Amino acid sequence: MADLSLRNIRKAYGDLEVLHGIDLEMRSGEFIVFVGPSGCGKSTLLRSIAGLETITSGDLVINGERMNAVAPSKRGISMVFQSYALYPHMTVYENMAFGLRITGTPKAEIDMRVRKAGEILQLDEYLQRHPKALSGGQRQRVAIGRAIVRNPRVFLFDEPLSNLDAALRVATRIEIAKLKQSMPEVTMIYVTHDQVEALTLADRIVVFKDGNIEQVGTPTDLYRKPANLFVAQFIGSPA
Ligand code: ADP
Ligand code: MG
Repeated sequence: MADLSLRNIRKAYGDLEVLHGIDLEMRSGEFIVFVGPSGCGKSTLLRSIAGLETITSGDLVINGERMNAVAPSKRGISMVFQSYALYPHMTVYENMAFGLRITGTPKAEIDMRVRKAGEILQLDEYLQRHPKALSGGQRQRVAIGRAIVRNPRVFLFDEPLSNLDAALRVATRIEIAKLKQSMPEVTMIYVTHDQVEALTLADRIVVFKDGNIEQVGTPTDLYRKPANLFVAQFIGSPA
């Protein structure tokens, strides 16, 4: 369970401020989609939530606890990126188990979590294969599996499907929708530039522009009542 609050988050790289005071409250189990033009700060915000970037000011709060100074590995957050590096010499099973092994998780517990992730992602048949014997979509699912086995309370996705071709994107989008159903207590933030993904997956969509939030709402809200032309064009509302 994770209620996640972003309070006046600012982030600068040197003199360049790229997040100008982001405020957002996310409820436990919500599926939030971030959209916005390239360069508007979406990845920076995800990386800041994960602790891979240090924010310049503001507070990141999970279940009432301030996380700013908590190490990335202690935040209970898993992140899946657009480009994923699997270990080519390890099986699918080992790729998913590796991160748990190095933190000393007991073998039986690792086995249970890897098999559960395999089931959720329909990789059960592939656990003993090596990455080179998998399709691009299956590989991306292994990368998602590695994130699932850590039992995160917050799951961050940064354009996970953008390297896949159109047919695979649709198939994997359906997998993500199932993932959301099978982990109903996990708060998920999903960055995409694909309107269909945003409208079909999101409980709420957050539209970013130049380091600020332009509008937050359900897909229906944004589609029917875009706050301005920018949001309308981004969501694809009839003008
Ligand atoms: P998005 O994910 O929405 O495309 P990013 O968060 O990647 O946007 O980038 C936001 C802005 O921050 C861009 O202007 C980008 O050039 C800049 N930026 C991102 N990462 C760095 C970095 N490590 N150092 C300097 N500038 C960066
Ligand atoms: Mg990005």
